[in-house]
Amino acid sequence: MNRSVFDAGQLVAVLTTEPLGRTLDYRAPEGGCSLGDFLEVPLGPRRVLGVVWGAGEGGYDAAKIRAAYRRLDVPPMRDELRAFLARAAEYTLTPLPAMLRAATRGPRLDSPPSARKTYALAGPVPNQMTEARFKVIEALRRFGAAPVTLGELADEADVSTSVIKGLVKLGIVAEGEAPRDLPYPPLVSQMPAALEGDQIAAAADLVGRVKAGAFSAVLLQGVTGSGKTEVYLEAVAECLARGRQALILLPEIALTADFLARVQARFGNRPAEWHSGVTQTERRRLWRMVGQGDAQMVVGARSALFLPFRDLGLIVVDEEHDTSYKQEEGVLYNARDMAVLRASIVGAPVVLASATPCLESWANAEGGKYHKLVLTARFGAAELPKMAAIDMRAQALGKNEWISPALAHEVAERIQTGEQSLLFLNRRGYAPITLCRACGHQVECETCDARMVEHRFLNQLQCHQCGATRAIPTSCPACKAEGKLAAVGPGVERLAEEVAAKFPTARLAVLSSDLFASARALKEQIVTIAAGGADIIIGTQIVAKGHNFPNLTLVGVIDADLGLHGSDLRAAERTFQLMRQVAGRAGRAEKAGAALLQTFQPEHPVIHAILGGDENAFWAAEAAARSQAGTPPYGRLAGIILSSPDMGALMDFANDIARRDGPLRAAGAQLYGPAPAPVARVRGRHRLRLLIKSDKSVALQPAILAWLAQFKIPNHLRLTVDIDPQSFY
Ligand code: ADP
Ligand code: ZN
Repeated sequence: MNRSVFDAGQLVAVLTTEPLGRTLDYRAPEGGCSLGDFLEVPLGPRRVLGVVWGAGEGGYDAAKIRAAYRRLDVPPMRDELRAFLARAAEYTLTPLPAMLRAATRGPRLDSPPSARKTYALAGPVPNQMTEARFKVIEALRRFGAAPVTLGELADEADVSTSVIKGLVKLGIVAEGEAPRDLPYPPLVSQMPAALEGDQIAAAADLVGRVKAGAFSAVLLQGVTGSGKTEVYLEAVAECLARGRQALILLPEIALTADFLARVQARFGNRPAEWHSGVTQTERRRLWRMVGQGDAQMVVGARSALFLPFRDLGLIVVDEEHDTSYKQEEGVLYNARDMAVLRASIVGAPVVLASATPCLESWANAEGGKYHKLVLTARFGAAELPKMAAIDMRAQALGKNEWISPALAHEVAERIQTGEQSLLFLNRRGYAPITLCRACGHQVECETCDARMVEHRFLNQLQCHQCGATRAIPTSCPACKAEGKLAAVGPGVERLAEEVAAKFPTARLAVLSSDLFASARALKEQIVTIAAGGADIIIGTQIVAKGHNFPNLTLVGVIDADLGLHGSDLRAAERTFQLMRQVAGRAGRAEKAGAALLQTFQPEHPVIHAILGGDENAFWAAEAAARSQAGTPPYGRLAGIILSSPDMGALMDFANDIARRDGPLRAAGAQLYGPAPAPVARVRGRHRLRLLIKSDKSVALQPAILAWLAQFKIPNHLRLTVDIDPQSFY
């Protein structure tokens, strides 16, 4: 390897994952080391992981500098990834060690690989066999020469592992040993779809960009069902054919059974998966394989951005508007923006796909920074659902009823014709408020400024801020009155009661993340529903994401006004996106669909825009409003969140840093606050927010650093900087 090599004993600067300064000096280990090499180094009494970041800086007592223990047997971190981490750290004002932690999380780099058992066809296959055994043989044929583990085989064949063990006993299947970190099975383009209409030009454009092998950003916009996935898979095929790697980011990775099956149909095998549901062993395997080029395609959640690809040739961010791309804990970053950054550093195209792009991407496309490709029609016979409002002021509703007669009528019709209805309510649990009818008290979390939400299915009250739970009380915690507590307002569980009462014979499925023990159970339920296993589906926002329910022809939104009232600057945008995404679930196959929005303000401009279907008009209006207010994407924002158990000291500190805002003002930025955060207490810590606002042209990060450099943050206090904040709670 032709890299700058440091001989054993030479000084090297090592970046560790420990929250220290930038880098520490060590002596290169036995055998020397190179830039980007992973080292195990002593730190106090411990051994920690580090990466060679440059030549040692020296300048102090050289005799005290310790030697690194050893170089790890993994590919060195490439210049491109080191540059990406450094730039991402700079942008998000995250200390570099925390960035390195994000890039090395989970894979247990230092434990050597061990062997594991693999399975292959061995003896002759008898003609007479149980169906389960036959499925195993079929699955093994599909895997071909690729080594497969017991778990993978059982999954693929959809049988229990005992069936496979039984075949081993009979000598039909042989058990072998292979190293634990196996390459992923090869992906070869098999069945390209015959593209139609504007799909053809869009795919050709993307393929051209992959061929060019240079950075460019594309917004691929098209209504749900217009073939965006089909189109970007063409670009993926080109990328793989060139021997390069592709990364596809998806928002709710747990729910991608559909997607993986599609990749398998298109490329013959499943891609590598990276998300929180993947085991440590599997993550380690992926981390290694991606580094040596033996994982061609990674389908992953946002943290897949930090993987050490050997030769990344394409990044796709699907459903790019999705709010889960913003990581709201630990390192605060937006995976959509960081994907563009990584693509620009590695020199590859990035595709942002969505039916309802975020205003930031829309504006970037308008301004010519992103190239825009538009798919205008749904593929084939599928048509966009007809959308209409149900004016709730004109509907007679009984006590504790939320389904209007008009909507109920439509649902009843679908039951008659054997089609599915989806009732959408973005509220988990049974009821958002538990109210004492004697004294008016509302049950609140003990450590947060938030109401407890009743979850009747789990038989408890839950705080949606901190996760605290407690038994549902029978007497009021404030006035002690017995039997006076009442549930107020609907959650999906309560809606389910109403549905069961109104449609006693219908088969009902409730999709809410908290009702499933595992992502797998949720996945299975979705497959069952898609196959027709329910007449009425009640769901929170997890149903808005990309599932295909071919028999679904009606979407009823229980409360379209729910998101409109927040103080959030993106309230209109979010409501617009969510409503259009949910509506997009209806009529994806041959049957036409309808979406009905229950609202008390049908004349509200956002509701109008949703119903009118003129998306460009909506974005243009929203853009004009934000431009006027100087808010993103036409101005810059950074949130400062301060928290502490000590309210007095917190206030003092906040006022002090607000007063000394000279460096911010000098740079042309304004500081607002401090103000109590909308959720003013979480887990017993009081919370204050400050907001920094500036023109787009201002270099905000250096100004914030200069401002913060004036203060020493007391131990009891936490200060978080949120660049481009998405939520303001
Ligand atoms: P989107 O990603 O825009 O929601 P998809 O790519 O999922 O759209 O396409 C919607 C459906 O139409 C999918 O089932 C897809 O396989 C099918 N489809 C789209 N384009 C084609 C095509 N050209 N040929 C065959 N099927 C297509
Ligand atoms: Zn709480």
